[in-house]
Formats: sequence, structure tokens, C-alpha cells
Amino acid sequence: MSESEHTGDSPPNAPPHHAPNGKFRNPWGLAESRFAGLLRWRWNRVRHPLPRDDGARSLRCVPPAVRVPRAAANEIAVTWVGHSTLLVQLGSVNILTDPIWSDRASPWRLVGPRRLIPAALPLNGLPPIDIVLLSHNHYDHLDAWSVRALARAQPTAQWVVPLRLGGFVRSLGVRYITELDWWDERTVGDATVACTPARHFSARTPLDRDRTLWCGFAVASAAGRLFYAGDTGLHPEFARIGERFGPFVVSAIPIGAYEPRWFMQPVHVDPDDAITAFRALHAHHGSLARAVMVGVHWGTFRLTDEPILAPPQRARAAWTRAMLPDENLWVLAHGETRGIRMEQRGTASSFLLPRRPASSHVDGMEHGLTVYRHDSPGGRIVIITVDERNPNDVVARLQVERRADPERQGVGEPPLIAEARGTSREAVLTELQALATDDAELARRLARWTAMQRRPRSDAP
Ligand code: ZN
Ligand code: ZN
Repeated sequence: MSESEHTGDSPPNAPPHHAPNGKFRNPWGLAESRFAGLLRWRWNRVRHPLPRDDGARSLRCVPPAVRVPRAAANEIAVTWVGHSTLLVQLGSVNILTDPIWSDRASPWRLVGPRRLIPAALPLNGLPPIDIVLLSHNHYDHLDAWSVRALARAQPTAQWVVPLRLGGFVRSLGVRYITELDWWDERTVGDATVACTPARHFSARTPLDRDRTLWCGFAVASAAGRLFYAGDTGLHPEFARIGERFGPFVVSAIPIGAYEPRWFMQPVHVDPDDAITAFRALHAHHGSLARAVMVGVHWGTFRLTDEPILAPPQRARAAWTRAMLPDENLWVLAHGETRGIRMEQRGTASSFLLPRRPASSHVDGMEHGLTVYRHDSPGGRIVIITVDERNPNDVVARLQVERRADPERQGVGEPPLIAEARGTSREAVLTELQALATDDAELARRLARWTAMQRRPRSDAP
């Protein structure tokens, strides 16, 4: 089907995922009727039952190491509560994804997929949550009991949800809700949250199919950038998501609920698809070798046909085949916390500067002024100046110049994209890295945001 056939029947100017009947759809299509496929899948399952023992008994909880109340400014800590529920401590911003604490992922208390292992953290023992990301309304992601309980336990949290899901979440007692469409972004406290496309669908009853949107999220804070995929099949927009909102330090992508492929492939990635998506996310910024992937959406509810321990095994095998660094695939145990401190990952500006210092060069280094120049993708030269002449006021500036830009010949300084101030080189580079992006529009907005961040600090004694 051609592009024009997808969009031809949309209302004028409507994006392709907005259907004319007021519902949402995948611009890339879904191969087969979900309902006919569901019947065929279930019937096959009755005729060929799955083996009883698929490894679920070997699932284990380990004690979490949540940073209380928050992670260090330059640290990203991730704790797996179970399924797609992660506590991500993105520096000083605490984020919860698709929270489910219930015993079943189901509208009923006695029927439906049951937890194979308890939630690894108590809902009432969480640190202060700043942002809750809800990707879509399926029962394994939007659990009404958990939403109500969190609305009471964390009344000031800001919930970010896809289009038309806000009303339902509000009816469960949540006060602060931001509804976003794909590609929209909003400042939420100390972070910026963007809503990203996903290939999936929504439904809580047989009658509400695709009335609310589904999505993934990108979050930027001063500590770095997070991508959370939600539920999705493979689609062509991962590279653009990475280009626009990356480079991501941590990407949480589903690795489970993928069999049988003839039915699940359009809406759920398998481990190979997940790694394909992960590579695409990092294509533009060349950040693949330093980036972490966290495998989620497995090992908690038996939703589909693959054995319960197959997702991590297949993810590890696919990761090795892709020749990615072993330590950058995180398949966590329930409750496990893992963290990254930016200085452990090379220089704080490692997303701007290549890993090997030889391939970027230091232009000048005198009287406490250091200038780095680095050829970045897209025909630009990134210039970072670190001014350490005043040890109490270290300043880092990021400028970007078009390579061989005839219009700028002799026009003086290249435009300033971002500026960070602090009391150490490490701190200002960490901040600058969070601000820096090849997307000039985003960079300008982030620079304004940081200016706002700095105001209270300069008032402090
Ligand atoms: Zn789903
Ligand atoms: Zn799901």
C-alpha cells in the first residue's frame, strides 16, 4: 500500500496515525484481523497445549538497591519491578514506567494471566516519584488498582499518557496528567518528555479498540536520556526517534511476548527485532557501542507461547551475534538495580566526543581554556570550550558550525547552542552533554530550560 493510500482518507492535515473515524491506527498497517488471529491462536493452543514446566520456577527476586531518595546528579539507576515496570532514577528525576503491582494482568480478580513472581518493590515503599509514563491501556501496562494506589501514595507525580488516555487515568484519581501525541514533547518538572510512535493497538473491552493512542517515550534530564519503547512491533521510525530525541544512554525495549510470530510479529518485537530497533535508535548519533539496552516485558506474566526463560536467552544470543559489548545488555533479575555513572563511561561528554581522544583534537589549551573540535554526523563541526580560569565558575560552551558553510565565512563566532556553568569540569560537561543535541531546535529549547534550572541555584548562598 502506498503512502498516499494511507493518508488519502484522513481528515485534512491529520497525521497518518489519526483515522478518520476518530480512532487511531498504525501508519504501517497490521497484517491480519486481530480478532480472527486471536481465535486461531487460542484454538491452536487448545489442540497443542504448551509444556507445563517452562522454567518459571527458577525466577528469583534479588534485593533492590534503589537510590533513596534520588540518584546522584550524574547517575542513572534502573530497578526492574517486573514486566514493563521500571523505576528509572535519571539523576534527580524518579520515573516509573507502566506500573503494575496486581496479582493478575486482567480486568478480573480471579481470571487472567497471573503473576509468576511478586512485584520486587512494595508500591508503598517507592522513593518520591516525579513522572509516571503510561504507554497504552492494555491490562499488563495500565492496571487500575495500581494507578489508584499510586495516585494516593504519590499524589504529586506527573503522569504522561498518550492521546485520549487522560480521562480514564483522571477517573482513577490521578491529578496531574499530560496527554501527548506522537512526536510531541513537554517539559515536566526537571525533565523533558517526548511521546514516540509505536506499532501496537489499544483495547480494554471488545468495544473500545484503538480509541486511545499507544506510544513509547523519550526522557531527557541533566543526567542523560532514556528511551522506553512501551509495547511495539518493529516499524520504520526508530532511527528518527533516535535522531530527534537521542542519544539515549539507556533504552528499555520489550524482549518477551512474541510467539507465535505469525500473530505477534506486527505488535510485539522479539529479541532479534528489539536489537534491530536498538541499532536504529543509535544510527544517527553513532552512540551504539556505549549505549545500554534493558530487556523488559518478560518473566512476570505468561501472556504468549514462548517458554518463560526464552526471551533473555534469545536476547543474549542475538546481542552476541550483533557483536555489541556484553556488559551493555541488561537482563535484570526481578528487583535488581543497575546504575551508570557518567564518568565511568569515558569523559562526561562522551556522546559528543569520540571514545578515542585521538580522533577529536584539542585545538588550544592555555590559561585554563580548552577547545575541542569534533566532526559530528550530518556535516557539522562541534566545538566545545571549557573555561576553567575561574575555579568557582567553570563554564562549558557548545557551538555547532556547518562544515564548509560558505554563508558563515568570516561571519565570526559560530552560533552558541548550549552553555553550562558549575564548580567542576566534570559537572559542567555532564550538564552540557544533557543539553547537547544535533537537533538545533531541541537544543535551543533545552538551553532555555537549563537557564531556568540555574536560576534558583544562583540565588542559593
Ligand atoms: Zn500491549
Ligand atoms: Zn504488553
